[in-house]
Amino acid sequence: MTLTRYDLMVIGAGAAGSSAANEAAAHGMRVGLIERDKLGGTYLNYGCDPTKALLHIASIHHQAQQAAMYGIQIPSADIDWPGIQRYVQGVIEQVRGGTPIQAREKLRQRGIEVIEGEAEFISEHEMGIGGRLYEAARIIITAGSHTITPPIRGLDHTGFLTNVDVMKLPQLPHSLAIIGGGPLGVEFAQMFRRFDVEVTLLESKPTLLEHEDSELVKLLEQVLRQEGVQIETGVTLQQAELTPQGKRLRFQDASRRQRELDVTDILLATGREPNLAPLHLEAADVRSDNNRILVDATLRTSVPHIWAAGDVIGGMRLTHVASAQGKAAARNALSHHPQNFNLQVVPWVIFTDPPWHMWEAQRSSYAPVASPIAWGVPCLRRTHAPSSMDVPQDSSSS
Ligand SMILES: Cc1cc2nc3c(=O)[nH]c(=O)nc-3n(C[C@H](O)[C@H](O)[C@H](O)COP(=O)(O)OP(=O)(O)OC[C@H]3O[C@@H](n4cnc5c(N)ncnc54)[C@H](O)[C@@H]3O)c2cc1C
Repeated sequence: MTLTRYDLMVIGAGAAGSSAANEAAAHGMRVGLIERDKLGGTYLNYGCDPTKALLHIASIHHQAQQAAMYGIQIPSADIDWPGIQRYVQGVIEQVRGGTPIQAREKLRQRGIEVIEGEAEFISEHEMGIGGRLYEAARIIITAGSHTITPPIRGLDHTGFLTNVDVMKLPQLPHSLAIIGGGPLGVEFAQMFRRFDVEVTLLESKPTLLEHEDSELVKLLEQVLRQEGVQIETGVTLQQAELTPQGKRLRFQDASRRQRELDVTDILLATGREPNLAPLHLEAADVRSDNNRILVDATLRTSVPHIWAAGDVIGGMRLTHVASAQGKAAARNALSHHPQNFNLQVVPWVIFTDPPWHMWEAQRSSYAPVASPIAWGVPCLRRTHAPSSMDVPQDSSSS
């Protein structure tokens, strides 16, 4: 077997991997960037960018349907799903900076070689990819995450959709059960409803968005219900089965009644877990726990020359976090004095309409800043004290 050598290899070309590879290449390293699917990973191909484009288009359709209320007559606002998909692919291509071939060429010019295939560790410095052997002085694992399949009897047999399938649906479903009322579930619920799909959102916890401000959650629930989303919280999903028309979910509702829901499709928004299995981490002695790679404060794994960043290490699964971690991991991998990765302030948004802006301050000198809840304000914000800003401020100045 021939052996190819790199200064640094990065496993996974998502937000974390792309920024790690770019940072290392900018420091003159010869970088191998391994990707088994598409450059850009989840955020570009199946996550943030396409879902936000779809939400925007769904909102245009919704506004067109509401236009008469404002004195604007729009006789028909028909959904052309293939046209929408073409638009979304155009957005992806624009963000990627061209076709996959053009993007690869741009990376090559920066000193980053893209290697297509799935990486598995052979030893601490070696990786096998599609029957070829590669060796690197340093390695950064940025393999991302995938949707968790909940243990519902029959679900394997009925089949289901994930965020990956949504991007290539041949047509919109007539009706959809969305399992999971977290940020992805509520965004998908509003989006599909605004594309005229009958949507039922099912959540096992007593409330949607269980980690968020309960008052704001109530307001958002109200908006979703007004738009026609059926919401069932506190459910126990028991069984999925095929019917002549589609799929049936059997569940116990919050009042402990046995219920059935017939839909054409089921979409999982049930949380995500790191892509660890194919990596064979044990071959390199990289330690993991609870299905995530263990790293210290500098993002170093249990093996001194192997680093990890992004969804694969758990924590806040957000693109900007992954991207910042990727850059930090690359810097540390090249440095004799690794620095701690510091999550000082992390903003995040739930892109419903109205959207939901939040940030988390993990340093005591930052105080929560919030705005009063008012119906009709353009966005929902976490409210601790009356103020008008949703940006972090140093508490010493307030
Ligand atoms: C539907 C959806 C919407 C989202 N919306 C937002 C949002 O609005 N804002 C936000 O901040 N975050 C959002 N996220 C989260 C965000 O997409 C992730 O946090 C981010 O993509 C994580 O980046 P990453 O580089 O860690 O992983 P990924 O982007 O998942 O990239 C990992 C890459 O590694 C590749 N890979 C895995 N294993 C191997 C292997 N063994 N060999 C080779 N390649 C491998 C994968 O194919 C993948 O391309 C969303 C996620 C989803 C699913």
